[in-house]
Amino acid sequence: MTENVDLILDALRTIEDPSGGGDVVATGRAAAPRLEQGIASLILDVTGMPIATRKKLEQQISAALGAVAGISEVRIAMTADKVGRTIIAVGSGKGGVGKSTVSANLAIALGRMGKKVGLVDADIYGPSQPNIMGSHDKPDAVDKKMIPLEAHGIKMLSIGQLVDPKRALAWRGPMATNALAQLIEADWGDSELIVVDLPPGTGDVQLSLIQRWKPAGAVIVSTPQDLALIDARRAIDLFTKMDVPILGLVENMAGYACPHCGEISDPFGRGGAETEAAEMGVPFLGRIPLTLSIREASDAGTPPAAGQGEEADIFEHIAKAVLDEVNRKRSTIIV
Ligand code: ADP
Repeated sequence: MTENVDLILDALRTIEDPSGGGDVVATGRAAAPRLEQGIASLILDVTGMPIATRKKLEQQISAALGAVAGISEVRIAMTADKVGRTIIAVGSGKGGVGKSTVSANLAIALGRMGKKVGLVDADIYGPSQPNIMGSHDKPDAVDKKMIPLEAHGIKMLSIGQLVDPKRALAWRGPMATNALAQLIEADWGDSELIVVDLPPGTGDVQLSLIQRWKPAGAVIVSTPQDLALIDARRAIDLFTKMDVPILGLVENMAGYACPHCGEISDPFGRGGAETEAAEMGVPFLGRIPLTLSIREASDAGTPPAAGQGEEADIFEHIAKAVLDEVNRKRSTIIV
C-alpha cells in the first residue's frame, strides 16, 4: 500500500507548482494521495488559481498519474481554501422572521454533524444571539483579537458584546463595518464554517460582508406571509447580483403546531414557499413550524438543535441541505 502511494508521490513530484516554490508535493498543493483498486485519488488546493491554470494543472496530474503502471483511473478533489474559512451568510428581507433563531440552530446542527463552527451575530438592529445561545459573558481579547465564547458545541461572537445594543442602532457605514471586521477576524481557531446572522434587509453590513469576506453562499429565511411580499426576493437579488450563490430558502413559522396535540394548522396556506423557491430558481432547504417550544427554548438560551426530538431533526435536515449546497455551489469538497 505504502509503495503504491509512493508511486503517486513520485509522479506528482515531476510536476511544478504553477505558483512556484517547487513541485506540487513540496508546496503542499497536492495532498492526501490514495490508491485503491487502480483508482488514484488526491486533494488539490486551487485557492486563488485562475481557471485556465487549474485546468492545465489538472491535465498534467491526470496525465502523469495515468502513465503509472497499475493506475487505471485518476480522481482529483479540488478544494478552494485549504486554510480559509467558509462563510455562510443568513439573511432575510425583514426583521422578526426568525433569522437569528435559524442562524443559531443551523450553526449548532452543523456542529453536531462534526463540523467546527463559529457563529457571528452581525445584526446591529437587534443582536439576539447572546440570549438565544444563553451566553452572556464578555469575550476576552488577545493581541486585539477577540476570543469567541463557546456554547452548545460552537463558538460565538455577537455585536451586542462589543457595544451597548441601544447605541448600535444609530450605526452607519464605517462603524458597522469596523465592528463586523472585529467579529469576522476574531480568533476563530480551527473553525471551518462561520455562520453570519445578518441584519434584515440589504444595508451596509451585508455589502461589506460580501465585498470583504465573500461568503460561500447565503441562506434566506422567510415566513409564508413574507413570501407573498417582495422582501425575500430583494434580499435574494442583492446576493445574486454580487455573485454570492443562494444556498436556499428556509421557510420559518410555517404552520402552527398545536402545543396540545402537535397537529399543524396552516393559516397562510401550505407549499407556497417551496413553489416560490422553485420559481426563483433557488433550492428549498426546509420548513420550520411555529411552535411555543421554539420560542421558549430561544428565550431560555437552549436552542432546540442542541437537544433531541422533532425540532432538532428539522434543523439537522436543514443543516445537511445547506452543507450539500455549499459543496455543490463551490464545486469543491470541504475536507
Ligand atoms: P429575526 O432574527 O428574523 O428578527 P428572531 O429569530 O429573533 O427573528 O425571531 C423573532 C421571534 O420569533 C423570537 O421571539 C423567536 O423566539 C420567535 N421565533 C422564531 N422562530 C420561531 C418558530 N419557528 N416558532 C416560534 N417562535 C419562533
